[in-house]
Amino acid sequence: SLINIAIDGPAGAGKSTVARLAASKLHMIYIDTGAMYRAVTWKVLSTGLAAHQIEEIAQLAETTEIALEPSEDGQKVFVDGVEVTEQIREPYISQKVSHIAKIPSVRNRLTSLQKQMAIHKGVIMDGRDIGTHVLPDAELKIYLTASVEARAKRRYEELKAKSHEVPYEQIVKEIAERDHTDETREVSPLRQAEDAVVLDTTGLPIEAVVHRIIALAES
Ligand code: C5P
Repeated sequence: SLINIAIDGPAGAGKSTVARLAASKLHMIYIDTGAMYRAVTWKVLSTGLAAHQIEEIAQLAETTEIALEPSEDGQKVFVDGVEVTEQIREPYISQKVSHIAKIPSVRNRLTSLQKQMAIHKGVIMDGRDIGTHVLPDAELKIYLTASVEARAKRRYEELKAKSHEVPYEQIVKEIAERDHTDETREVSPLRQAEDAVVLDTTGLPIEAVVHRIIALAES
């Protein structure tokens, strides 16, 4: 049977790794919606706009072409045909993305693209508002969470592997700030859907979480 799976949760809970592995095991299409907000943020910043320039950003979001292409280790991200897969992971993007993502016109545009991507089912979509707003009818909803320390540690290791040495304390602070902005914005804030299965990944190996999701998808 063809289903959609929504995976939501705060920054660094392991959503993208888990969603990517589960998608490959279940032969589903993985869609990382955070990458789409990061792509818009990349374009906003490279155009020289600041987060408060709402009108200009709305215009830009409307005319920017964002494309996701499945690849071996996840997905490639393109903005107006230019690949930005690596660039959108840089710390300066992470620091600004939640302030761009709270702009209603940006959310409207990306949400409608995301709904279209899931229309034929068979997708695992990860984000902050998938179970609550983008795919409220998803057959399976997961809310993935973990302690802020566990999430910061994961981010710290990820960045270190890419030789972005960011102090652990700074990552804790940035993750907490990003969660706060995501939880308190007016349009589709980060929230657990009522019918979501909550998985706390603190201290759990990734494989265990993936197994659990596969079992839920197949039940
Ligand atoms: O998942 P990731 O950390 O890449 O997401 C980056 C940011 O994009 C989030 O902190 C949030 O501000 C925004 N986002 C969102 N809605 C989504 C996915 C991401 O607002 N569905």
